[in-house]
Amino acid sequence: MKTGNRCQLSILNFQLIIIIFTMLLTLGVFSQDTAISGIRHPESGIQDQVSTGAVTGIAEAPQDQGARIGRWVLVIHGGAGGPPQGSMPEEKEQQYREKLSEALSIGTAILERGGSSMEAVEAVVLFMEDCPLFNAGKGAVYNDEGVAELDASIMDGSTLMAGAVTGVTRIKNPIAAAHQVMLKTKHVLLMGEGAELFAKEQGLELVDPSYFQTPARTEQFDRMKKSQREQEMKDDRPKGTVGAVALDNMGNLAAATSTGGLMMKMKGRIGDTPIIGAGTYANNATCAVSCTGTGEYFMRNVIAYDVSALMEYRGWSLEEAANYLIHDKLKSQGGGGGLIAVDKEGNVAMPFNTNAMFRGYAKPKEGSVVEIY
Ligand code: ASP
Repeated sequence: MKTGNRCQLSILNFQLIIIIFTMLLTLGVFSQDTAISGIRHPESGIQDQVSTGAVTGIAEAPQDQGARIGRWVLVIHGGAGGPPQGSMPEEKEQQYREKLSEALSIGTAILERGGSSMEAVEAVVLFMEDCPLFNAGKGAVYNDEGVAELDASIMDGSTLMAGAVTGVTRIKNPIAAAHQVMLKTKHVLLMGEGAELFAKEQGLELVDPSYFQTPARTEQFDRMKKSQREQEMKDDRPKGTVGAVALDNMGNLAAATSTGGLMMKMKGRIGDTPIIGAGTYANNATCAVSCTGTGEYFMRNVIAYDVSALMEYRGWSLEEAANYLIHDKLKSQGGGGGLIAVDKEGNVAMPFNTNAMFRGYAKPKEGSVVEIY
């Protein structure tokens, strides 16, 4: 009997040990990576980093596995079009190169310190909007009534959220307004007066439309007014829309684009720039894209989204998709322009089928590169 009791007792002890061990295992005490686990957004296929502190009682954000120093990439453009190589005065070309480099260094500083791709693309585009050289913000072209009607959009590849404004004449920095539309409203695209009222409510700076009248654009407008609008719409002079795409250290992609559109466009004309999927698109599952060129072609072919779709559904590389759309599809239709893009691995594409595209990129180990032709 005594031996039987002892035997029963040790079976009980053994069972107790097994139960305690199982409980500890469940709580993750023996696991190497107790702090972080991934959650997948069904729509985007994005891996977010979240703490499982609710189970272990410890939130250990600094061990975030998503962040990788030196993963970031920034790509920018200052518009496609332009005169053939050698026909732009050297001094002018130098000015473009300097401003593109400055724009890259603004974005680089943000991404290097661990800032988000959204923060970087907004800051870069905002800087280019303030620079009269480019066809966006301060340097925007005019419609056929001599007024600058501005478009801008921004998209966050980690959430697939987007914001845009179109046909605004008084918002100093349309890209900032586009970002606020994304953050503060349930809409994607606001137009004209409503967008301006909203921007004012958000504390953004409104200016008199004359702020966008620059001597260079006024001279260009007067010259163009003398000739046929149709002919001028087709020509290859600098368009100068601006855009930026970025991958940050967390692996998040973002895209932003801003423009005055086409010089001498009809009042009320809207191009591809504020249309998500046409001029701007970002998705962590694939890539981030910003387009420039004759917007009507980019809209009809939904170019920015199509880069992503060819990657997602056909398994094409970023380079294959971007080159096909710009050099084959658009070119065969007579659609002039280009795009900049970065994929989730940090690969960069910058194809254009015009004489030139002001462009550049920066990567941690390669520094920054600026190119025009
Ligand atoms: N895509 C712009 C538009 O059509 C113009 C440009 O990129 O130069 O409005």
